[in-house]
Amino acid sequence: MSNHLTIAELMKNSFAMHSHLPALKVGGLEITYQELWDRSSELAATLLQAGADNSAIGIVGQRKVSSYIGVLATLICGSFYTPLNPKYSKKRLSAIIEDAQIRTLVGDATELSALGYVLEDPGLQGFATVVCPDGYVKEKSHWLGKEELGTFTDGCALQQRNPGNLAYLLYTSGSTGRPKGVQVTNHNLISFLDSMVENYDLEPGFRASQTFDLSFDPSVSDMYFTWLKGGVLCVLPEQEMMLPFDYINREKITFWNSVPTVASFMHKMGFLSPGCFPHITHSMFCGEQFPKHIADAWQLAAPNSSIENLYGPTEATIYISRFVYEKTLQNPQFRNGIVPIGKPFINHQCALVSENETLVSNGDVGEIIFKGPQISNGYLNDQINTSKVFVSFSWDEEGGTWYKTGDLGFVNADGQIECIGRKDNQIKIAGRRIETGEIESALNRYEMLSDVVVVPVFGQNNVVTCCVAFTRHAITEEVENYIRKDSIGSLERIFFPKKIFTVEEMPTNHSGKIDRKKLSELAAEIMIGKT
Ligand code: AMP
Repeated sequence: MSNHLTIAELMKNSFAMHSHLPALKVGGLEITYQELWDRSSELAATLLQAGADNSAIGIVGQRKVSSYIGVLATLICGSFYTPLNPKYSKKRLSAIIEDAQIRTLVGDATELSALGYVLEDPGLQGFATVVCPDGYVKEKSHWLGKEELGTFTDGCALQQRNPGNLAYLLYTSGSTGRPKGVQVTNHNLISFLDSMVENYDLEPGFRASQTFDLSFDPSVSDMYFTWLKGGVLCVLPEQEMMLPFDYINREKITFWNSVPTVASFMHKMGFLSPGCFPHITHSMFCGEQFPKHIADAWQLAAPNSSIENLYGPTEATIYISRFVYEKTLQNPQFRNGIVPIGKPFINHQCALVSENETLVSNGDVGEIIFKGPQISNGYLNDQINTSKVFVSFSWDEEGGTWYKTGDLGFVNADGQIECIGRKDNQIKIAGRRIETGEIESALNRYEMLSDVVVVPVFGQNNVVTCCVAFTRHAITEEVENYIRKDSIGSLERIFFPKKIFTVEEMPTNHSGKIDRKKLSELAAEIMIGKT
């Protein structure tokens, strides 16, 4: 597909080919391929003028017109982007801005103002440029708005890029609280799009959902794959995110993609009635474990659709394996009732290794590892963490770098990989990834929580429903509420433990370490009466 073109060249060709079609729908606003490219090109010229080529540009808005113009502009001007989601804690935002050395921001005036308190952090250097493609409030002398953008109506010629240059830099959780910047190159992204083109044959005009913020990488797939194939990206408003029943039918979505949590919630609220989504032809679920009973309910609700489970860590560029949930599979017995993650994408290899890094025997459980052109070069400025998970193995005579996902799995009788949990303390809450160590480090700052241990609570199908904290200090509800409010600058609300419990002693295992498994079981018993 790619014929050695860069992402920017691929996009330029596709935008020219589909110029008259709608490319983006946000709220009531529909923008054609022509207009979206022109506005992005204008912004790219401004960014170039500001000296932003080949450097990280922070995209502040999430799922706004300015976000998509910003992403395309970084592509055109030969730089790369890092999402700065205003929902992140101040601590996380400051760490990202510093690590990525972001000197240029793109966002609309409201979002830039929301980030104002971070930008004023004396620890951060001043910003060279802040651009508001949507609106303009002259609050700061170095903010550029509509007037300045208007000076570049001729747009910007595509800047030269090498395959090894970054396409985006996306931060994931680190166990010490320091976020890890995953470097995704043009080469990684082109390889990913090659796989997607192999997997899906779509006609221009299809209607794809965008349920993800830019800070979660399935958003990249939804954008670039849709625009490569001439579809229209329909961006769900925040208030309809959890119950998108009406949106899906109103916008006649054909290509649906979300975390399974969205489907589970709709199911729970009674919104998945048989045949309710007749327009959907493709339903993709990604980012977290996909329970089979939800796949079954969705199948009935969207009878004209294929149903897929897409799996992939950010480090392996969005998705790297896929399982198509066949209508004909009557009663497949998946372990824990979780849909398999399937087989690796074309040009990629998957293997399972034991604790001592040898290949496990067929059918045995091991850590899932991947090799191939989608695997990132590692974390920015973080050789230590990079060398832990981007590794080569003596048994692999071919050589090359494998990514150790930390996920545990096995190959089932049909040759499909099933993912059954983690070997470390990383968890997902509503599809969002965090190390429990990061939560602990945010809470440890409070003297009465200096010994805190955070563990996941597993619900039905062994899926993480929330996390809770244990401490040996007596914590009153008042104190808990105070910490909940006070820690907002260092921990996002969705990751704050559902409850802080006091225990007399922390249980330990035979090596004397805190027995997290036991605490997790205890938490499940208390929270949901699971035994
Ligand atoms: P992220 O980097 O945020 O995409 O998180 C990657 C992690 O999410 C993986 O290592 C898995 O633990 C989990 N994950 C992603 N997709 C799936 C899936 N389809 N099924 C089960 N777990 C998944």
